[in-house]
Amino acid sequence: MTRKLLVLAAAILVAATAFAADKPQTMCPIRNKPIDKTKYVDYQGQRVYFCSGSCAAKFKADPEPVFAKFAKEGIVPENVQKTDPVCGMKVNDKSVKADWKGRRLLFCSDNCKDTFLKDPSKHVKALDEKPATKS
Ligand SMILES: [Zn+2]
Ligand SMILES: [Zn+2]
Repeated sequence: MTRKLLVLAAAILVAATAFAADKPQTMCPIRNKPIDKTKYVDYQGQRVYFCSGSCAAKFKADPEPVFAKFAKEGIVPENVQKTDPVCGMKVNDKSVKADWKGRRLLFCSDNCKDTFLKDPSKHVKALDEKPATKS
């Protein structure tokens, strides 16, 4: 009887944990105020929202603490990624994904995902804003 209850409790806990994952961002990660949807920064394929321009500037100067906070709290930033960081192809299908240090990244195939996970910090740089092409 007790054992059955324990198993049940464990099952509920697992379900709750799964449910707690994938929270969309609602609060500014710098000052913990509600986000203003017009204040955001796109960085490495992630759209991160803020309550003000000064918070956005803080993020630009030092993005990692914000991503660390997302990872810790299970917040998944909005993905605005256009290309696969490994092969540079367009990502249309959102099924091949990996979470890395507070970012959610999309790939064209499991192959590219595996390549990415072998050296994420190297490949993620491909998603940094590319210098604007001058015409
Ligand atoms: Zn803020
Ligand atoms: Zn690819």
